[in-house]
Amino acid sequence: MPRRHKKDRDRDYEPLDLDRARQGIRRTETKRGGRYIVQPISEKNAQKTYTCPGCQLTIPPGQAHVVAWEDESLMGAERAIEDRRHWHSHCWRIF
Ligand SMILES: [Zn+2]
Repeated sequence: MPRRHKKDRDRDYEPLDLDRARQGIRRTETKRGGRYIVQPISEKNAQKTYTCPGCQLTIPPGQAHVVAWEDESLMGAERAIEDRRHWHSHCWRIF
């Protein structure tokens, strides 16, 4: 019996930006006169329970959703990131 060649597994991909790829693409949206940075969170990365500010219901772990925060340079980027909120994708869309 001929031995099977090991499958070529030499090609170990090394995505340069794995974290970003996993998290989805950050985008900027303008809503209600403010500029917001919106970061999609995948099912895999949703590991905690959050309360959605749009409907006051919880976002359970494992549910894809978005994180949004105001792109407010006056207060400083760090402060804005502390203020970020987790939203149901749907609630964010209609916000
Ligand atoms: Zn909601």
